[in-house]
Parts: sequence; C-alpha cells; structure tokens
Amino acid sequence: MTAAPKPESWVRVLPEGLYVDPGGFFIDPPRAVDRAVISHGHADHARPHHGHVLATPETLAIMRQRYGANAGAAQQALACGETLRVGAVDVRLVPAGHVLGSAQVVLDYDGSRVVVSGDYKRSPDPTCAPFEPVPCDVFVTEATFGLPVFRHPPVAAELDKLLRSLALFPERAHVVGVYALGKCQRLIALLREAGHDRPIYLHGALKGLCDLYERQGVALGPLEPATVAGGGREAREKFRGAVVLAPPSAIADRWSRRLPDPVVAAASGWMRVRQRARQRGVELPMVISDHADWDELIATIEETGAPEIWVTHGREEALVLQAGKLGRRARALALVGREEEDDAG
Ligand SMILES: [Zn+2]
Ligand SMILES: [Zn+2]
Repeated sequence: MTAAPKPESWVRVLPEGLYVDPGGFFIDPPRAVDRAVISHGHADHARPHHGHVLATPETLAIMRQRYGANAGAAQQALACGETLRVGAVDVRLVPAGHVLGSAQVVLDYDGSRVVVSGDYKRSPDPTCAPFEPVPCDVFVTEATFGLPVFRHPPVAAELDKLLRSLALFPERAHVVGVYALGKCQRLIALLREAGHDRPIYLHGALKGLCDLYERQGVALGPLEPATVAGGGREAREKFRGAVVLAPPSAIADRWSRRLPDPVVAAASGWMRVRQRARQRGVELPMVISDHADWDELIATIEETGAPEIWVTHGREEALVLQAGKLGRRARALALVGREEEDDAG
C-alpha cells in the first residue's frame, strides 16, 4: 500500500491561479482559463471568458446574468452534495454560507482530500444554505477578516440599529449601502424576518440580482424602484420612513441627496473600522458581514480537523500564526492577480 500523495504535489499555485493537476482545472482563477471550477458569483472569484465552467446552478445563473454570452463557453452545473469525477479527481460542492449558490470545493484524489472554501461565513443568512464543515487533510481558508480585532457583533443587534432609527425618525429616508450580490438580498430577508413588511426601495443597480434571487426561490417581499430623478416633491414623500438600498458608491453622493433628509447607513464588516464609516459619510454603520470573522475562522479551522491550513485572500499572516499555535501546519497561499473584490465585506 502506498501513502496518499502530498496535497501540494497535486494542488498548486500557477500564474493563472490555483490549479488541480490531476483534474486539469483551476479554482476561481483570476484569468480566463480552459477549465474552471467557480466557488461563487462574486467578481473576484467568477471571471468571464473561461472555456468550461463547473459551478452550482445558482452560481452559473449569477454568472450568466452578469456576463451574458461571456459567462463561459461551456457551463456545467453541479448541485451541492453531488460528486463528479473530473480527470482523476472527485469534485463535490458543499454549501459555504456566503451568498446564494456559494460552495466549498471538496477535492478527493488518491486518498488525499483538499477543501477550497472560497469565501464563507458562519452567521445566519436566510438567503443561502449554511456552511457545512468537511473533514479534510488541507483546508484552504479565506482571511478577509483575519485579525483578532475583527469580531462581528450579533446580526440581530446590528439590524436593530436600523429598526430603531426607522422608529425614531419616521420622516427621514434611510438609505443603506449594500453590495449588490448577497448583502443586499440578505439585508432585505433579515428585515422581512424582523417584521418589516413595507416596500423596500432599490437603486437600479440592485434590481437584477434581487430578481434573480426571487427566481431562485428566495422571497424578498415588496420591492420598488427608488427612482428619484425628475420626481416632484410628492414623488419623494413615499421615501419618508422607508428603507432605500443602494450600492456603497451611491449612498453619499448626489443620488441619495435627492431623498428626503436621508439617514445614511451601510452594512459591511468594514463598518467595524470607524474611519471607513466616516470616510464614506455613514452615520449609521452596521457591522453585517458575509465573511467569517476572526472567531469564525478559528472555529472553522478547528472543526474541519485539517492538519494543514492554507490561507489566502486577505490578512494571511495573523491567521497562519494562529493556526500554527493550534498545532496546524499553516502557510499563506500567494495567489497572484487578486483584485479588490466587489463583496469586500
Ligand atoms: Zn465573495
Ligand atoms: Zn472573495
């Protein structure tokens, strides 16, 4: 009997991205490649123009919506939980709890298992399936919030800030900056769970993905366009005491100043950093993140039981150090070509 191959001998960093040699494919490559497995639809993971794309049906739908004919020449859907043999590797997708369709990529080759988690979180999200820990030999983890200062407060407490402000200032519009894929729909679903059943108004840039979520079976309740241009005084009255969602770039510019006396809010893990909130003109910061915080990262590393941890995508050094203290072999995966992601928080 021969020993299982060393993980670094078959999962390697190439200039194009993370490459699974015996399967002949890349995972979330930042450049266009012949064969790609995509963990989820955020633009820093799902790039256009690949030859062949394997992903969950939801992620493929998101890619088609964003990239149209450039979403990948050939697309193959793999539902979570199903296994597909690719070359000499068994590929299984397992929920990552990050956004709709997000999946960890579980790779089994010759008795060795590597799990590439993509982005993930452990806090509740009514819009996607929860993260499932998978025992493995190597766990590849993100580190967006890989510093001990990043501890996300309970989601309910952060949402409550918005609900209380709505009750206190019923004459003011509440414009909330949210990323278009994931955070937007999660915030809507959390508001609905909390009993907020009024129409929620959407900046035009957010509509397409909300429609997609609804088509995929995620109910979001009454949504209406937040059209402010050209409307008279009366047209703006409906925004008083209402929640208006917009991309982070729009909340502090002319677009939102047309709303009646807006309270400017934002939902992001980065709202933990006071200076960022101030720079963006946010008076009501909500620390709601679709990424694991420090405690979730550590807990997840422990739950997978992996003796070896590869850290990427963020603040690698502190997490590498901490994983080492927990008795894991740990290293930073230096992936080139990473761009600022569009879900950054
Ligand atoms: Zn992401
Ligand atoms: Zn990411």
